[in-house]
Amino acid sequence: GGVADRMSGRLLDGRELASHLRRELAHRLEKLVDPEREAGRPQLAILRDGRSEAAAVYAASLERAARSVGAGTRLVDAVEAGTERGLEATVADLNAEAGVAGIVVAQPFGDVAAGRRLVELVDPAKDVDGATPTNAGRLARGEPAFVPATALAVIAILEAYGVEVAGKRAVIVGRSAVVGRPVASLLVARDATVVICHRATRNLARETRRAEILVAAAGSPGLIRPEMVNRSAVIVDCGINAVPGGIAGDVAFDAVAPVVRAITPVPGGVGPVTPMMVLRQTIEAAERARNAQPSEASISSSGTDPSMNPSRSIVS
Ligand code: ADP
Repeated sequence: GGVADRMSGRLLDGRELASHLRRELAHRLEKLVDPEREAGRPQLAILRDGRSEAAAVYAASLERAARSVGAGTRLVDAVEAGTERGLEATVADLNAEAGVAGIVVAQPFGDVAAGRRLVELVDPAKDVDGATPTNAGRLARGEPAFVPATALAVIAILEAYGVEVAGKRAVIVGRSAVVGRPVASLLVARDATVVICHRATRNLARETRRAEILVAAAGSPGLIRPEMVNRSAVIVDCGINAVPGGIAGDVAFDAVAPVVRAITPVPGGVGPVTPMMVLRQTIEAAERARNAQPSEASISSSGTDPSMNPSRSIVS
Protein backbone atom coordinates (compact mmCIF):
# COMPACT_ATOMS: atom_id res chain seq x y z
CA GLY A 1 0.00 0.00 0.00
CA GLY A 2 0.84 3.68 -0.20
CA VAL A 3 2.29 4.08 3.26
CA ALA A 4 4.48 1.00 2.94
CA ASP A 5 6.77 2.83 0.57
CA ARG A 6 7.30 5.50 3.18
CA MET A 7 8.05 3.25 6.16
CA SER A 8 10.40 5.37 8.20
CA GLY A 9 12.93 3.29 10.08
CA ARG A 10 11.55 1.69 13.17
CA LEU A 11 8.46 3.70 14.12
CA LEU A 12 5.19 2.21 12.88
CA ASP A 13 3.10 5.38 12.76
CA GLY A 14 -0.61 4.73 13.34
CA ARG A 15 -1.62 8.34 12.79
CA GLU A 16 -0.12 8.37 9.33
CA LEU A 17 -1.83 5.11 8.45
CA ALA A 18 -5.15 6.38 9.85
CA SER A 19 -5.09 9.47 7.66
CA HIS A 20 -4.23 7.36 4.62
CA LEU A 21 -7.18 5.08 5.45
CA ARG A 22 -9.46 8.08 6.04
CA ARG A 23 -8.90 9.33 2.48
CA GLU A 24 -9.28 5.88 1.00
CA LEU A 25 -12.49 5.13 2.92
CA ALA A 26 -14.02 8.55 2.20
CA HIS A 27 -13.50 7.89 -1.50
CA ARG A 28 -15.00 4.41 -1.26
CA LEU A 29 -17.98 5.70 0.71
CA GLU A 30 -18.81 8.44 -1.77
CA LYS A 31 -19.31 5.80 -4.44
CA LEU A 32 -22.20 4.44 -2.35
CA VAL A 33 -24.00 7.78 -2.15
CA ASP A 34 -26.42 9.02 -4.77
CA PRO A 35 -25.44 12.71 -5.01
CA GLU A 36 -28.94 13.74 -6.12
CA ARG A 37 -30.73 12.45 -3.06
CA GLU A 38 -28.12 11.75 -0.37
CA ALA A 39 -29.51 8.24 -0.53
CA GLY A 40 -27.31 5.36 0.36
CA ARG A 41 -25.07 7.25 2.78
CA PRO A 42 -24.25 4.49 5.27
CA GLN A 43 -24.92 5.11 8.91
CA LEU A 44 -23.07 3.69 11.87
CA ALA A 45 -25.22 3.14 14.95
CA ILE A 46 -23.36 3.44 18.23
CA LEU A 47 -24.94 2.22 21.46
CA ARG A 48 -23.21 3.41 24.56
CA ASP A 49 -23.71 3.57 28.25
CA GLY A 50 -23.00 7.18 29.15
CA ARG A 51 -22.25 6.13 32.73
CA SER A 52 -19.07 4.39 31.53
CA GLU A 53 -16.22 6.71 30.66
CA ALA A 54 -14.41 4.03 28.63
CA ALA A 55 -17.52 3.39 26.53
CA ALA A 56 -18.04 7.12 26.03
CA VAL A 57 -14.43 7.58 24.87
CA TYR A 58 -14.70 4.72 22.35
CA ALA A 59 -18.10 5.96 21.14
CA ALA A 60 -16.70 9.46 20.63
CA SER A 61 -13.74 8.14 18.63
CA LEU A 62 -16.12 6.16 16.41
CA GLU A 63 -18.31 9.23 15.89
CA ARG A 64 -15.30 11.32 14.87
CA ALA A 65 -14.04 8.61 12.54
CA ALA A 66 -17.47 8.20 10.94
CA ARG A 67 -17.77 11.92 10.35
CA SER A 68 -14.24 12.08 8.91
CA VAL A 69 -15.04 9.53 6.19
CA GLY A 70 -18.52 10.92 5.50
CA ALA A 71 -20.61 8.23 7.17
CA GLY A 72 -23.69 9.15 9.18
CA THR A 73 -24.03 8.26 12.85
CA ARG A 74 -26.89 7.27 15.11
CA LEU A 75 -26.19 7.58 18.80
CA VAL A 76 -28.22 5.61 21.28
CA ASP A 77 -27.58 6.16 24.95
CA ALA A 78 -28.54 3.47 27.42
CA VAL A 79 -30.12 5.91 29.81
CA GLU A 80 -32.30 7.52 27.14
CA ALA A 81 -33.39 4.17 25.72
CA GLY A 82 -34.48 3.20 29.22
CA THR A 83 -35.15 -0.40 30.07
CA GLU A 84 -33.32 -3.44 28.76
CA ARG A 85 -36.47 -4.33 26.83
CA GLY A 86 -36.39 -0.88 25.25
CA LEU A 87 -32.77 -1.37 24.24
CA GLU A 88 -33.52 -4.76 22.75
CA ALA A 89 -36.30 -3.21 20.68
CA THR A 90 -33.90 -0.48 19.55
CA VAL A 91 -31.38 -3.07 18.34
CA ALA A 92 -34.16 -4.89 16.47
CA ASP A 93 -35.15 -1.61 14.77
CA LEU A 94 -31.54 -0.87 13.81
CA ASN A 95 -31.14 -4.40 12.43
CA ALA A 96 -34.19 -3.84 10.22
CA GLU A 97 -33.34 -0.34 9.03
CA ALA A 98 -31.72 -0.36 5.58
CA GLY A 99 -29.86 2.93 6.11
CA VAL A 100 -28.01 1.56 9.13
CA ALA A 101 -25.01 -0.34 7.76
CA GLY A 102 -23.25 -1.05 11.05
CA ILE A 103 -24.06 -1.38 14.74
CA VAL A 104 -21.52 -1.12 17.57
CA VAL A 105 -22.29 -1.67 21.23
CA ALA A 106 -19.52 0.24 23.00
CA GLN A 107 -18.36 -1.83 25.97
CA PRO A 108 -18.78 -1.82 28.85
CA PHE A 109 -22.54 -1.56 28.47
CA GLY A 110 -24.59 -1.92 31.63
CA ASP A 111 -23.42 -4.94 33.56
CA VAL A 112 -21.38 -7.60 31.78
CA ALA A 113 -24.33 -9.95 31.25
CA ALA A 114 -26.61 -7.18 29.93
CA GLY A 115 -23.91 -5.99 27.51
CA ARG A 116 -23.43 -9.53 26.23
CA ARG A 117 -27.17 -10.11 25.79
CA LEU A 118 -27.47 -6.92 23.79
CA VAL A 119 -24.51 -7.75 21.52
CA GLU A 120 -26.00 -11.15 20.76
CA LEU A 121 -29.05 -9.43 19.25
CA VAL A 122 -27.01 -7.53 16.66
CA ASP A 123 -27.41 -8.84 13.11
CA PRO A 124 -24.03 -10.46 12.25
CA ALA A 125 -24.20 -8.72 8.85
CA LYS A 126 -24.14 -5.34 10.69
CA ASP A 127 -21.72 -6.40 13.42
CA VAL A 128 -18.90 -4.14 12.22
CA ASP A 129 -16.83 -4.49 15.39
CA GLY A 130 -16.89 -8.29 15.23
CA ALA A 131 -18.51 -8.60 18.64
CA THR A 132 -21.16 -11.27 18.06
CA PRO A 133 -20.52 -14.96 18.80
CA THR A 134 -21.39 -15.67 15.16
CA ASN A 135 -18.56 -13.56 13.82
CA ALA A 136 -16.14 -14.75 16.53
CA GLY A 137 -16.95 -18.32 15.54
CA ARG A 138 -16.47 -17.62 11.87
CA LEU A 139 -13.12 -15.97 12.56
CA ALA A 140 -11.98 -18.85 14.76
CA ARG A 141 -12.86 -21.26 11.96
CA GLY A 142 -10.95 -19.23 9.39
CA GLU A 143 -14.12 -18.20 7.59
CA PRO A 144 -15.06 -14.75 6.25
CA ALA A 145 -16.06 -12.63 9.24
CA PHE A 146 -16.30 -9.18 10.71
CA VAL A 147 -13.43 -8.86 13.17
CA PRO A 148 -12.87 -6.87 16.39
CA ALA A 149 -11.41 -3.57 15.24
CA THR A 150 -8.33 -3.53 17.47
CA ALA A 151 -7.26 -6.92 16.18
CA LEU A 152 -7.79 -5.78 12.62
CA ALA A 153 -5.75 -2.64 13.32
CA VAL A 154 -2.77 -4.80 14.31
CA ILE A 155 -2.89 -6.57 10.95
CA ALA A 156 -3.46 -3.31 9.05
CA ILE A 157 -0.31 -1.83 10.59
CA LEU A 158 1.82 -4.88 9.78
CA GLU A 159 0.55 -4.87 6.20
CA ALA A 160 0.80 -1.14 5.63
CA TYR A 161 4.41 -1.12 6.76
CA GLY A 162 5.36 -4.19 4.76
CA VAL A 163 6.02 -6.55 7.67
CA GLU A 164 6.01 -10.10 6.37
CA VAL A 165 3.85 -12.47 8.43
CA ALA A 166 3.83 -15.81 6.60
CA GLY A 167 6.10 -18.34 8.26
CA LYS A 168 7.03 -15.95 11.07
CA ARG A 169 6.90 -16.75 14.77
CA ALA A 170 4.31 -14.43 16.30
CA VAL A 171 3.91 -14.17 20.06
CA ILE A 172 0.80 -12.57 21.53
CA VAL A 173 0.66 -11.52 25.18
CA GLY A 174 -3.00 -11.60 26.26
CA ARG A 175 -5.93 -13.85 25.38
CA SER A 176 -8.92 -11.50 25.54
CA ALA A 177 -11.88 -11.90 23.20
CA VAL A 178 -11.37 -8.41 21.75
CA VAL A 179 -7.62 -8.46 21.09
CA GLY A 180 -5.46 -11.51 21.86
CA ARG A 181 -7.68 -14.27 20.52
CA PRO A 182 -8.81 -12.56 17.30
CA VAL A 183 -5.25 -11.37 16.56
CA ALA A 184 -4.13 -14.99 16.90
CA SER A 185 -6.79 -16.14 14.43
CA LEU A 186 -5.86 -13.41 11.94
CA LEU A 187 -2.14 -14.20 12.16
CA VAL A 188 -2.75 -17.94 11.78
CA ALA A 189 -4.89 -17.17 8.73
CA ARG A 190 -1.84 -15.37 7.33
CA ASP A 191 0.39 -18.40 7.92
CA ALA A 192 2.24 -17.20 11.02
CA THR A 193 3.23 -19.65 13.75
CA VAL A 194 1.42 -18.29 16.78
CA VAL A 195 2.07 -18.53 20.51
CA ILE A 196 -0.49 -17.04 22.92
CA CYS A 197 0.78 -16.03 26.37
CA HIS A 198 -1.35 -15.13 29.40
CA ARG A 199 -1.25 -14.86 33.16
CA ALA A 200 -0.48 -18.54 33.64
CA THR A 201 2.43 -18.53 31.17
CA ARG A 202 5.38 -19.82 33.19
CA ASN A 203 8.27 -17.90 31.70
CA LEU A 204 6.92 -14.95 29.72
CA ALA A 205 10.36 -13.57 28.80
CA ARG A 206 11.46 -16.90 27.36
CA GLU A 207 8.43 -16.84 25.04
CA THR A 208 8.59 -13.17 24.05
CA ARG A 209 12.34 -13.32 23.31
CA ARG A 210 11.60 -15.79 20.51
CA ALA A 211 9.06 -13.49 18.84
CA GLU A 212 9.68 -12.17 15.35
CA ILE A 213 6.34 -10.38 15.70
CA LEU A 214 5.29 -9.47 19.24
CA VAL A 215 1.74 -8.28 19.94
CA ALA A 216 1.26 -6.88 23.43
CA ALA A 217 -2.38 -6.93 24.61
CA ALA A 218 -2.17 -7.51 28.35
CA GLY A 219 -3.45 -4.23 29.76
CA SER A 220 -0.37 -3.93 31.95
CA PRO A 221 1.72 -0.75 31.56
CA GLY A 222 5.40 -1.33 30.77
CA LEU A 223 5.08 -5.12 31.02
CA ILE A 224 7.42 -5.74 28.08
CA ARG A 225 10.99 -4.76 29.04
CA PRO A 226 14.05 -4.63 26.76
CA GLU A 227 15.49 -7.90 28.08
CA MET A 228 12.27 -9.65 26.93
CA VAL A 229 12.69 -8.94 23.20
CA ASN A 230 15.16 -9.70 20.46
CA ARG A 231 16.71 -7.24 18.04
CA SER A 232 14.84 -8.48 14.97
CA ALA A 233 11.40 -8.18 16.59
CA VAL A 234 8.55 -6.07 15.22
CA ILE A 235 6.36 -4.98 18.13
CA VAL A 236 2.71 -3.93 18.02
CA ASP A 237 1.53 -2.48 21.32
CA CYS A 238 -2.25 -2.65 21.89
CA GLY A 239 -2.08 -1.42 25.48
CA ILE A 240 -4.01 1.69 26.44
CA ASN A 241 -3.28 2.13 30.13
CA ALA A 242 -4.12 5.25 32.09
CA VAL A 243 -1.01 6.38 33.95
CA PRO A 244 -0.18 9.64 35.69
CA GLY A 245 0.28 12.20 32.93
CA GLY A 246 -1.46 10.36 30.09
CA ILE A 247 -1.67 6.89 28.58
CA ALA A 248 1.00 4.21 28.31
CA GLY A 249 1.27 1.01 26.35
CA ASP A 250 2.12 -2.50 27.53
CA VAL A 251 5.67 -1.99 26.25
CA ALA A 252 8.27 0.10 28.07
CA PHE A 253 8.64 2.14 24.89
CA ASP A 254 11.65 4.34 25.70
CA ALA A 255 13.78 1.36 26.69
CA VAL A 256 12.50 -1.11 24.08
CA ALA A 257 12.28 1.06 20.93
CA PRO A 258 16.06 1.42 20.54
CA VAL A 259 16.67 -2.34 20.65
CA VAL A 260 14.08 -3.70 18.18
CA ARG A 261 13.49 -3.60 14.44
CA ALA A 262 10.18 -1.71 14.57
CA ILE A 263 7.55 -0.70 17.10
CA THR A 264 4.23 1.14 17.38
CA PRO A 265 4.14 4.08 19.82
CA VAL A 266 1.40 4.67 22.42
CA PRO A 267 -0.38 6.95 21.80
CA GLY A 268 -0.23 7.15 18.02
CA GLY A 269 0.01 3.47 17.08
CA VAL A 270 -2.88 1.00 17.17
CA GLY A 271 -5.25 3.57 18.74
CA PRO A 272 -5.90 5.87 15.75
CA VAL A 273 -6.17 2.92 13.33
CA THR A 274 -8.85 1.07 15.35
CA PRO A 275 -11.86 3.32 14.61
CA MET A 276 -10.88 3.33 10.93
CA MET A 277 -11.25 -0.46 10.97
CA VAL A 278 -14.82 -0.11 12.26
CA LEU A 279 -15.54 2.31 9.44
CA ARG A 280 -13.89 0.07 6.88
CA GLN A 281 -16.11 -2.80 7.97
CA THR A 282 -19.14 -0.48 7.98
CA ILE A 283 -18.47 0.42 4.36
CA GLU A 284 -17.96 -3.25 3.54
CA ALA A 285 -21.33 -4.02 5.17
CA ALA A 286 -22.98 -1.26 3.12
CA GLU A 287 -21.39 -2.51 -0.09
CA ARG A 288 -22.51 -6.04 0.63
CA ALA A 289 -26.05 -4.91 1.47
CA ARG A 290 -26.19 -3.04 -1.82
CA ASN A 291 -24.85 -6.00 -3.79
CA ALA A 292 -27.43 -8.21 -2.12
CA GLN A 293 -30.32 -6.20 -3.63
CA PRO A 294 -32.83 -8.70 -5.07
CA SER A 295 -31.74 -8.46 -8.71
CA GLU A 296 -28.11 -9.18 -7.91
CA ALA A 297 -28.54 -11.52 -4.97
CA SER A 298 -26.22 -14.46 -5.01
CA ILE A 299 -25.74 -16.90 -2.17
CA SER A 300 -22.30 -17.93 -3.30
CA SER A 301 -20.92 -14.39 -3.39
CA SER A 302 -21.07 -14.13 0.38
CA GLY A 303 -18.44 -16.81 0.68
CA THR A 304 -16.12 -15.57 -2.01
CA ASP A 305 -15.96 -11.84 -1.45
CA PRO A 306 -12.29 -11.19 -0.71
CA SER A 307 -13.19 -8.12 1.36
CA MET A 308 -14.73 -10.42 3.95
CA ASN A 309 -12.02 -13.05 3.97
CA PRO A 310 -10.06 -12.78 7.20
CA SER A 311 -6.89 -13.79 5.39
CA ARG A 312 -7.14 -10.96 2.87
CA SER A 313 -9.38 -8.34 4.38
CA ILE A 314 -6.76 -5.59 4.53
CA VAL A 315 -6.68 -2.70 2.08
CA SER A 316 -3.42 -2.85 0.15
P1 ADP B 1 -7.15 -6.41 26.75
O1 ADP B 1 -8.44 -5.70 26.69
O2 ADP B 1 -5.95 -5.52 26.57
O3 ADP B 1 -7.06 -7.60 25.87
P2 ADP B 1 -7.80 -7.87 29.23
O4 ADP B 1 -7.71 -7.27 30.59
O5 ADP B 1 -9.11 -8.21 28.68
O6 ADP B 1 -6.96 -6.90 28.27
O7 ADP B 1 -6.93 -9.18 29.21
C1 ADP B 1 -5.63 -9.16 29.68
C2 ADP B 1 -4.92 -10.38 29.15
O8 ADP B 1 -3.52 -10.22 29.36
C3 ADP B 1 -5.32 -11.66 29.84
O9 ADP B 1 -5.44 -12.67 28.86
C4 ADP B 1 -4.15 -11.96 30.77
O10 ADP B 1 -3.96 -13.35 30.92
C5 ADP B 1 -2.98 -11.31 30.07
N1 ADP B 1 -1.99 -10.79 31.01
C6 ADP B 1 -2.14 -9.78 31.88
N2 ADP B 1 -1.02 -9.58 32.60
C7 ADP B 1 -0.13 -10.50 32.17
C8 ADP B 1 1.21 -10.82 32.53
N3 ADP B 1 1.85 -10.15 33.49
N4 ADP B 1 1.80 -11.84 31.87
C9 ADP B 1 1.16 -12.50 30.92
N5 ADP B 1 -0.08 -12.26 30.53
C10 ADP B 1 -0.74 -11.27 31.15
